[in-house]
Amino acid sequence: MRILLDETELKEGVLRLASEIDDFYGNKRHLTVIAVMTGSLVLFADLIRRLSMPQRVGVVQASSYRGGTKSGDLHVDSKMMIDVSGRDVLLVDDIFDTGKTLDRLQQMMLDSGATTVKSAVLLHKNREHSVAMRPDFVAFEIPDEFVVGYGLDYLDMYRNLPYLAVLEPDEIEATALESQP
Ligand code: 5GP
Ligand code: MG
Repeated sequence: MRILLDETELKEGVLRLASEIDDFYGNKRHLTVIAVMTGSLVLFADLIRRLSMPQRVGVVQASSYRGGTKSGDLHVDSKMMIDVSGRDVLLVDDIFDTGKTLDRLQQMMLDSGATTVKSAVLLHKNREHSVAMRPDFVAFEIPDEFVVGYGLDYLDMYRNLPYLAVLEPDEIEATALESQP
């Protein structure tokens, strides 16, 4: 695997992201911070502990990769969502790729009565996006390659890697075999 961002770089990126978010919201307002599962799991745990304002924390599940490396139909499961009505909401996701996930979730939060909705991502892929919205806080711009680690998976593997790496085509094949029960 080719390492794109090592542990130190990721840590610096998260600190940068947290301080931008802190500067924007100030530290007195309550913020409702929502993790877009499962990819934001690791980022989320690191990020919320670096934010200074009082927080309400919740999760929503969105999946579009469905076992491949290409974006498929988006499926949102909001069973575990907390109430966002009248709240300032910050959505936290691992990566902004086509943009469909955050675009849909932002609309969902507004439909549920959120007062404001912003979004923060670790990674922003340098490609054409299929929606008009853009994330408000971005830690890193990356090339249009398939990456894993620091929460990001292929077939639910590699989320535990402490670094971010590009998964090459031969490794994609090998993973498919390795991930069998
Ligand atoms: P979007 O809706 O912006 O196309 O895709 C967002 C979701 O697709 C992300 O939350 C992430 O789960 C997944 N995704 C997009 N690009 C990558 C990638 O390079 N690697 C991995 N592992 N997941 C990705
Ligand atoms: Mg995701």
